[in-house]
Amino acid sequence: MIRFMRVFGLTGGIGSGKTTVARLFQEEKIPVVDADGISREVTSPGNPAHEAIVRRFGPEVLLPDGRIDRKKLGSIVFADPGKRAALEAITHPVITEGIRKAVSALASEGHPIAIVEAALIHEKGRRGTFEAVIDVHCGRRLQVERIMRRDGIPREEALRIVSTQMDPEEKARASDHVIDNSGDLAQTRAQVRALAEKLRRPAPGNR
Ligand code: ATP
Repeated sequence: MIRFMRVFGLTGGIGSGKTTVARLFQEEKIPVVDADGISREVTSPGNPAHEAIVRRFGPEVLLPDGRIDRKKLGSIVFADPGKRAALEAITHPVITEGIRKAVSALASEGHPIAIVEAALIHEKGRRGTFEAVIDVHCGRRLQVERIMRRDGIPREEALRIVSTQMDPEEKARASDHVIDNSGDLAQTRAQVRALAEKLRRPAPGNR
């Protein structure tokens, strides 16, 4: 039997609070598929995408334990659009398929709705894949403060990373719902709770 499932996207800039909000949605019993986790899984040793990456970029993009050194690979493709396209040609199809499988597993477990957490929904033109997109927003200043603290990086590095990403205000405008994560956790939880209620109401009118 084919079950119909409603799927929402969850996005936001680095350190905006996507993981935090994903956890809060899970507390509200809405399952979340983590696109980044799937990306790690499908590129882990023993998978065809891992092999293809090593063939294209050489063993110097491997960590001593054989996993892909994502930071190193990231800096290689950051500097070279041709290499970035080559990497995406390897990874995108398998990540998309991994997400599709995870979502259909949730559907066959009987979940009526699910959320896919992915940082680059708008940048990759994937808005149309979802019934609606939820943006987690806290403003650039707080993103910088929070990733400095979380990742133990200097302010200049945090500023550099945040400034290379899509403008958070534009991301918010391009989305259907915005969770303001600039306050404390209790404030964010209250918004997630209210939105979870709204999303549970069948379309249309859930936007
Ligand atoms: P990334 O894009 O790097 O995966 P993210 O969008 O998933 O980041 P989180 O990891 O959820 O963001 O949050 C970034 C950091 O800010 C974490 O250390 C988290 O604990 C902290 N944080 C998140 N929300 C709040 C909040 N409302 N108040 C204070 N700290 C917060």
